[in-house]
Amino acid sequence: MPGHDDVIARIGDYRVDRPDAFRLRDYDPNDLGDLTREDKDAAKALVRMQRKRIRALQERLYAEGAQSLLIVFQATDTGGKDSTIRRVLQGVNAAGVRVHSFKQPSAEELDHDFMWRYHDHAPRRGMIAIFNRSHYEDVLVVRVKDLVPADVWKRRYDHINDFEQLLTESGTRVVKFFLNISKDEQKERLQDRLDDPEKHWKFSTGDLEERERWDDYQVAFEDAIRRCATTEAPWYVVPANRKWYRDLVVSTAVAETLESMNPQFPPAEEGLDEVVIPD
Ligand code: AMP
Ligand code: MG
Repeated sequence: MPGHDDVIARIGDYRVDRPDAFRLRDYDPNDLGDLTREDKDAAKALVRMQRKRIRALQERLYAEGAQSLLIVFQATDTGGKDSTIRRVLQGVNAAGVRVHSFKQPSAEELDHDFMWRYHDHAPRRGMIAIFNRSHYEDVLVVRVKDLVPADVWKRRYDHINDFEQLLTESGTRVVKFFLNISKDEQKERLQDRLDDPEKHWKFSTGDLEERERWDDYQVAFEDAIRRCATTEAPWYVVPANRKWYRDLVVSTAVAETLESMNPQFPPAEEGLDEVVIPD
C-alpha cells in the first residue's frame, strides 16, 4: 500500500507547470496514481490525515494574520465541487474560511468589469477563501455560450493572470483545481440525481443543454488551464471519477500548499512566564 510520501510525489503529476504542452486528453479521469480500487479505505485514512494537517496549518495561518490562501474549484456539472469542498475542509475552524459560490452574475455585477465581483471576495490576511466557480467562468460558460464577443473574452486570460499576480504579490497564495470527470461518469451522476428524490434539487434540465456542449467546454477548460497555469498560481487537473482519489489528491495538494506558506504563530507577549492569573 503506497503511503503519504508516494501520494505527495504523485500530486506533482497533476500540477500543470509546462502549460505550453498542456493537453487535457493526456489526463485520465480514472487515474488512481500508484493506488488500486482495493486501496480505497487506506486512501480515506490518508485523507483524514491530510485534514488534520490542514486544520493545524490553518490555525497558524489565522493566528499569524499575514498571508492568505485562495482556492479555486472548477468542473463540469456534477464534477464534485461541493462535496470536495465539504470533505477537504471538514473540521476546519469556520471563522477562518469563507466559501463563495458564484452563480449567474446579477444586473449590478454585469454593470461592472467582470472581475469586480470576484475581487470583492479575495481573502483578507489570515483567511482561506474557496471559490466554487470563479473568475474562470468568464472564459468558460461565457465563451461556450457566446455571452460576450470573442475579442472580449480572449483578452480575459491576461486579465486573469494579472489579477492572480496582483493577489500573489499582495500575500495571497492562489491555487486552482479542475475536477476532471469523464462524459460517461457525468451521465451516471446526472442519472443518479434523477433517480434519488433527495438529489432532485440538484438536477436542472439546463444541465442537459450544457452536456450537449461537452466538447466545447473541454476546449474552453484546456485553453483556460494552458493560458493561466503559472508557477505562482498553478492549476491541478485532478482525476475525479473516483471520489476517494479526488479527495486524496485535493487534500494533499492543499496541505502541501499551506505547509509551503510556512505560517507561524506570532511571538508571545513579553513576560508571559511571569504572569499570574489572579483568583
Ligand atoms: P450551480 O453551480 O449548479 O449552482 O450553477 C451556477 C450557474 O451559474 C452555472 O450554470 C454557471 O455556468 C453559471 N455562472 C457562473 N458564473 C457565471 C458567469 N460569470 N457568467 C454566466 N454564468 C455564470
Ligand atoms: Mg448545477
